Parts: sequence; C-alpha cells; structure tokens
Amino acid sequence: MVSPGVPPAGGPAAPGAAGDLVIRARRVVTPGGTRPATVRVSAGRISDVGPYEPGPGPARADAVTLASDEVLLPGLVDTHVHVNEPGRTDWEGFASATRAAAAGGITTIIDMPLNSIPPTVDAAALRAKRAAAAGQIHVDVGFWGGAVPGSVGRMPDLYGHGTFGFKVFLADSGVPEFPPLDRAGLGRVMAQAAALDSVVIVHAEDAAVIASSAGPLTEGEGRTYRAFLRSRPAAAEVSAITQVIELAQETGARAHVLHLSAADAIGLLAAARRRGAGITAETCPHYLALAAEDVPDGATQFKCCPPIRERDNRDRLWRALRDGIIDCVVSDHSPCPPTLKRLDIGDFGTAWGGISSVQLSLPVVWTQARERGHSLDDMARWMAAAPAQIAGLAGKGQIGPGFDADLVAFAPDESFVVDPARLHHRHPLTPYAGARLDGVVRRTWLRGQPAGGGRPGGRLLARGERA
Ligand SMILES: [Zn+2]
Repeated sequence: MVSPGVPPAGGPAAPGAAGDLVIRARRVVTPGGTRPATVRVSAGRISDVGPYEPGPGPARADAVTLASDEVLLPGLVDTHVHVNEPGRTDWEGFASATRAAAAGGITTIIDMPLNSIPPTVDAAALRAKRAAAAGQIHVDVGFWGGAVPGSVGRMPDLYGHGTFGFKVFLADSGVPEFPPLDRAGLGRVMAQAAALDSVVIVHAEDAAVIASSAGPLTEGEGRTYRAFLRSRPAAAEVSAITQVIELAQETGARAHVLHLSAADAIGLLAAARRRGAGITAETCPHYLALAAEDVPDGATQFKCCPPIRERDNRDRLWRALRDGIIDCVVSDHSPCPPTLKRLDIGDFGTAWGGISSVQLSLPVVWTQARERGHSLDDMARWMAAAPAQIAGLAGKGQIGPGFDADLVAFAPDESFVVDPARLHHRHPLTPYAGARLDGVVRRTWLRGQPAGGGRPGGRLLARGERA
C-alpha cells in the first residue's frame, strides 16, 4: 500500500554549493535495491546516486568511502516518539531524545501530542512545543496534533499550522489532560479529518473491553505479567480497530493504527484494505522482539500498552509485516522517570506504561529481521520510506535524487551488548539491558552534516514544507 515515496518538493539543490559531500559504498540501500553506488550531496540534498566510482571525488567535496563491512542506509524516520517537553521534561526532552535518535540512526522524529504540557491540541500548544524544541534538536522534528473531546473545532487551525495529523485515544491515555474519545467523538474527528484531507492516528484499545476484563485478582497478582496481560486483552484492540475501520469507511478519512500488538486484528486490517479503506498500521520493536513468556514477574520495564503478547502472536506480526498488512515499524519511545515504573514494588497495574527504545530500535528490529530472512531493503522500507509516506513527510526516508541527505553508515554484522550507561535517553531504564544485538550505527548524517555531536543541527518540520 505504501509506494512510491513522497516526491521531494523543489528537486535537487544547485550543484557545487559549500558543504558538498560524496559517499561511496559497496552496499547502498536504495528504493530499487541494494547496490554499489556513489551518493553525491549538494546543499544538504542528494543530487545524484550514480555508479560506484573508486578514486578521489570532486575537489570541492568531502569524500567518504564506507568500510567494507558498512552499508549506507537512509536515515530512519520514527513517527512515534514521546518527547514530553515542555511540562514533563524530567521524563524526556528534545536534547536527550534527539541525541539518542541520531545515535540510533534516526534522522527524523515526529513528536506525539501527549505527555507534554500543554498537549498539542491547539495552535498555541504547538507554538509552545516548537519554542521548546528550537535550538536543541539533533535530528529533524515534526509534530502530530491531537484531538480530544471538544477539540474538533480547533483541528483546522492546528492542521493549518503544520501538524502532520491527529492522534486520538479510545481508552485512558495515562494522563488526565489528554482524555479519550467515545465512538461518536471519534466519528466527528474522522469526519473533520476527512474534510481536511488529514490522517487520524489511533491508540486502538477499547476502554469498555478493558473495563470488563479481569485484572489482578489478588493483591500479590499485581507483580505477575500474566495478570497484566489478562487486563489488556487482544479483544480490546480488535474491538477498537473494528470501530476505526467502520468510521474510516463511513467518513472517508484516512486512519492509521498505532502500535499494533494483537495479531488477531490482522485479518480485519487485510479485509479492510481489500475493500479499499484508507487504513495503515504500524508495530513497534518490542512487539517484534520480546515475548510475554519471557517477561519476569515484577519487571515493569517491559510494561507498555497495548502489552507485549505471546511468542505465537509475535510470529503472526512478522508474517503481517512481510505481507505488507503492517506497513511500518516505529519506536513508540515513551519514557518516564524510573520511580514511575515502580520497580520498588514491581506492580504492573500502577507502573507507567511505556518503553524507551529510540536509540535501539534499528538493531533490535534488525537482529530479529535477519534471523527471519529479511534484508536491509525491508528494513529501509519499514523504518524509513513507509513511515515518511504515511505521515506525508516530503523529501525524507529514501536514498534518491532530491531527497534530504539523511544517511547512516551501518555495520549489520557487528554485534554489541546493550549497556544502559551508553544510552542518551534521559533515563536509561530499558528492557534490552544486557541483550546482545546485531547492527552498529557507525555514523549518521543529517542533511549532509554529521548528526548527534556537539552542534544541534536539527530543524523543525511542518507539513507541506521542506526543512
Ligand atoms: Zn505512544
């Protein structure tokens, strides 16, 4: 469903500008496949992807030849990141989140409209977000808007200010200032989004199904992962996704299912697409890499909503990704201070639900993907081109003429052990601590410049504009 990429606006920049760069690699991952190539960069954009040429580059350009174990990937596009600044900057902030992203090979993030205060539900809140981010970002940053009960009338203004679409919840979001919608409210938001030709991105768990599900039954059960899993059943996702599909077809709105965990919903999504509904879906590294059977009791660093499910469910998510029913993989990086994870008591009921992984999502997914026979071409599609396409990000997510020179030198065969002390996230708590992962990000370029170092070179993105 996702093809071809969003055409870059404006075309290649003029050749010969200052700061030109030439990168040669034996393996360059392009939309047409992986091949030896020379990538020319001019004024921050890719001007040409030509044959591999040994020897010195043009005199005015910096020339880089990747090592034989390195692959040139497009910079990843992570459309699901909770930065939390302003308002909950002690959870995560723009400087730390974007430094972590750059270290992980991610060159564009789109920030979620909650857990910052204010939530991004009107233009004034968007201005506050942009002001907080300006001058301290190491990758390019765009913003989702949000829609909450009573905010339909503010959607056109918010969209007009450059947000990429509207996030909604159908169950408790975890923060009081971002309440969920009921079915009628979702219908109104989707009708408005259709009128704006925007997209509604949905946290698809049905509050009523969750409320009727058995949570921890005894006091001691709060520490058991089984009890937590029972409290967030797959049926809650299936019910919510059913509603989203119905309303997408009624209103003509495009809808995107966030963080799909329940494989039981895959058949519904596939059928909706066959009927021509404008539905896309993402999943996250933790659903593809982790399994409920392996989560120790009390290990609340594994808590997220919807939850990590069983191994068999994970295998079915991989098949849906292979078959194109799941379009993309994004982090859902959602940190909080360690105290809110309640590791002292290990209670899954009261712990904050969210996993921090923006720096690790590429190796986490690659480690699993290669074992399952997938290529780096698949990775580039799932983690760069497809999310850029779904969000409508112009000029991002591909190595091709006219696209931004967001590039990653990646060593796919080198492995490493996750040391939380080396994470740039504000809080290093991670379910991947001590895990051995394949794939090391050696260098990241943002619009042709080294990213993640001293100078924050990221730009603020607005829908319909090139940075
Ligand atoms: Zn999220």
